[in-house]
Amino acid sequence: MVISGKGGTGKTSIVASFAALAERAVLADCDVDAADLHLVLEPTVVERETFSGGSRARIMPGHCTACGKCEELCRFDAIRFDGPGNGRVAKTFRVDPIACEGCGVCAWFCAENAIEFGPVVNGEWFISRTRHGPMVHARLGVAEENSGKLVSLVRTRAKGIAEDGGLELVLIDGAPGIGCPVVASITGADLVLVVTEPTLSGMHDLARVAELTEHFGIPTLVCVNKWDLNPDLAAQIEAAAAQRALTLAGKVRYDRAVTAAQIRKLSVVEHTDDGPAADIRQLWANVREALAGPARRAGAN
Ligand code: SF4
Ligand code: SF4
Repeated sequence: MVISGKGGTGKTSIVASFAALAERAVLADCDVDAADLHLVLEPTVVERETFSGGSRARIMPGHCTACGKCEELCRFDAIRFDGPGNGRVAKTFRVDPIACEGCGVCAWFCAENAIEFGPVVNGEWFISRTRHGPMVHARLGVAEENSGKLVSLVRTRAKGIAEDGGLELVLIDGAPGIGCPVVASITGADLVLVVTEPTLSGMHDLARVAELTEHFGIPTLVCVNKWDLNPDLAAQIEAAAAQRALTLAGKVRYDRAVTAAQIRKLSVVEHTDDGPAADIRQLWANVREALAGPARRAGAN
């Protein structure tokens, strides 16, 4: 499981290399709001399904008498008096789909049965083949929420594929940040690798993420990516990690080879053996060693 305090730390680039180095692994892209592992791994979709994270109300203008009951009852201020008219009233009420929280109260109390209420499609999820093994990934619709639910679905499905196929590892590209999606990503993980960068925000984010993994009691390793862009801050991050009893699993240098690999749609370790690729190989060896530790059970995430 690889996570970071925020996007843009190079987390996905490291996961793509891990995918190339791991044997017998299932990949899970749990960064469903900004999934980009597929850009490097070029998956062939073999199964796709829609995802519904909840329900929404919709007023049918032809049936609405504009009594205003729904607007009065909606605690989320999601009902507007700007719907189209019908033969009886000049204006009807309308549900703002972004503001609607899907509680269903309006539909329950509408005397005219003018409100449709049911599940909405928020996104899609996929099972794909990649050159490094099966991958589960997803796409959430624009401005859709409930990504925590979708992340759980991706993670659970990946675990199921690993169990069915006798694969020993689920490699998760986790959601960034510390919100609900990242909690959904790390649930049940045997090990978390936090990728950070040598900036003040990187240091701050590491502290927040470490609190989270500590709270869930998940062994946590740290990687400082692009460490040589600011060796002083990288050293401070190392010291902060040590203070929290987090193990530094490795440091990856900044190198243009990372961008060159992305352009070729390859992971760094497929693109070259030198520089950052050597750092990532060492990092992976340390992660494997930590996973193989006596406290880890077989079939680790
Ligand atoms: S409660 Fe029903 S009839 Fe009344 S305004 Fe709302 S949708 Fe229209
Ligand atoms: S379902 Fe709930 S949140 Fe949505 S419009 Fe109706 S009352 Fe408001």
